[in-house]
Amino acid sequence: MYDVIVVGGGVIGGLILRELTKYNLRVCLVEKANDVCMGQSKANSGIVHAGYDAKTGTQKAKFNLLGNRMMEKVAQELGVKYSNIGSLVVAFSEEECSALQTLKERGEKNGVSGLRILDREELHRMEENISSEAVAALYAPTGGIVCPYSLTVAAVGNAMDNGADLHLLFEVEKIEKTENGLTVSAKDGRALQGKTLVNCAGIKSGEIAAMVGDEINVNGRKGEYILLDRESGGFVKHTLFFAPTEKGKGILISPTVDGNVLLGPTAEEVDDGNTETSGAGIETVMEKARKMCKNVPFFNTITSFAGTRAYAAEHDFILRESERTEGVFHCAGIESPGLTAAPAIAEHVVKNLLSTRLKLEKNKNFSPYRKADYFFKDLSREEKNELIKKDPSYGKIVCRCEGITEGEIRRAVRENPPALDTDAVKRRTRAGMGRCQGGFCQSQVMEIIAQERGVALEEVTKKGKNSYIIRGRTK
Ligand SMILES: Cc1cc2nc3c(=O)[nH]c(=O)nc-3n(C[C@H](O)[C@H](O)[C@H](O)COP(=O)(O)OP(=O)(O)OC[C@H]3O[C@@H](n4cnc5c(N)ncnc54)[C@H](O)[C@@H]3O)c2cc1C
Repeated sequence: MYDVIVVGGGVIGGLILRELTKYNLRVCLVEKANDVCMGQSKANSGIVHAGYDAKTGTQKAKFNLLGNRMMEKVAQELGVKYSNIGSLVVAFSEEECSALQTLKERGEKNGVSGLRILDREELHRMEENISSEAVAALYAPTGGIVCPYSLTVAAVGNAMDNGADLHLLFEVEKIEKTENGLTVSAKDGRALQGKTLVNCAGIKSGEIAAMVGDEINVNGRKGEYILLDRESGGFVKHTLFFAPTEKGKGILISPTVDGNVLLGPTAEEVDDGNTETSGAGIETVMEKARKMCKNVPFFNTITSFAGTRAYAAEHDFILRESERTEGVFHCAGIESPGLTAAPAIAEHVVKNLLSTRLKLEKNKNFSPYRKADYFFKDLSREEKNELIKKDPSYGKIVCRCEGITEGEIRRAVRENPPALDTDAVKRRTRAGMGRCQGGFCQSQVMEIIAQERGVALEEVTKKGKNSYIIRGRTK
């Protein structure tokens, strides 16, 4: 019998799982996919928002600010890349200049520090590639960037290192109240017993809520992106936003923690978790990016992708116990700034919600640190030599674009949570994330996965289910 079953391996479920392992509790995470971080947490802008955008008094405003303040420490503990680059909301007209003032006042009410309106001259000094049409900007020095998938994977890995269980390919389809707690059943017939459950199922959190008799409407809004190669790194120095509209924060241009440049996302209503990109979507991103900056280096585009925001009708985070089933807690409608807010949401859910049903006793053995999540290429020459002496597989480069070694790939398949397919390796190591997008290294990555897992090469998939890469042997 688990004390807590967390449903959904996104950044919210992952950080809640980690928070739970700080206490003497038996906990697990169930995830319907064959890896964690397969929902919106893997395809978003990776911005640690300062907190001026959310309406004052909302859960979003509260947890955005708290999460922003916690992110650097959490990222450090988990060995995840984070950078406090600051953000700029750029105005192109008189009307937008007054919107900046409104945002600044709201931010100050929300508790955001250091907000400042920049005039044209200062803005152009700070961002040399900004459009000549840009007239002013709101500068938020507390804005930052983080790697969203590294954060999620590391949070789950750290929780597992601290004793949590992970059940992959466990698609929850039924939750029943029993005498002692709950029975949570998966589509494939597996069942787990738990005293309590936390619903962190993203776009499906409304469906999980319905399983316990609650009505929460969660809808999807797709956002498409373009990613530029690291050769364009430095094109912008801060995260650049347009002034927000009813539909959200609009398209942004931002550096990523890995030195790429991200352009997007669009905003299109969708019924499900649809993450297909489209010609029209990419055109929209390009058009808006051209408005924000001059000479955008689109020739350095290496890929496009999309993510789907899961939003509730009230456009605020829903963090509460079920109205119908005691011991079930919902984290629903966690749209942007959900990534930023995640560490603070996790702490709140455990300390203020689950604590009403469970006794929280500190786990004296809890370690907040993830085993070193180093990238070989970032090590000094001495450190590299030391590592190669211990394990010669670190001396062989597999992904030439990103400089990723065989040792790093083997480690990704072995450590918690294990990478079972090529996309999972890519999210953990960046092998296949560079200019050739895996064109050269994918076959070698497949071989390493097959060896490590003791399966045939034909069984190695790209992203679980039936996404086989090769059909069979010709000779
Ligand atoms: C385009 C886009 C841009 C964004 N940009 C930012 C940003 O820059 N900054 C920011 O702070 N926030 C941003 N966000 C918001 C942020 O990404 C989300 O708030 C956050 O990732 C939500 O995480 P989650 O864990 O709730 O959901 P998810 O990451 O979607 O995780 C839900 C998980 O539940 C699993 N699941 C679903 N149903 C079941 C089931 N029946 N059984 C078992 N498992 C199930 C799914 O497979 C999935 O892994 C953005 C979102 C999008 C889509």
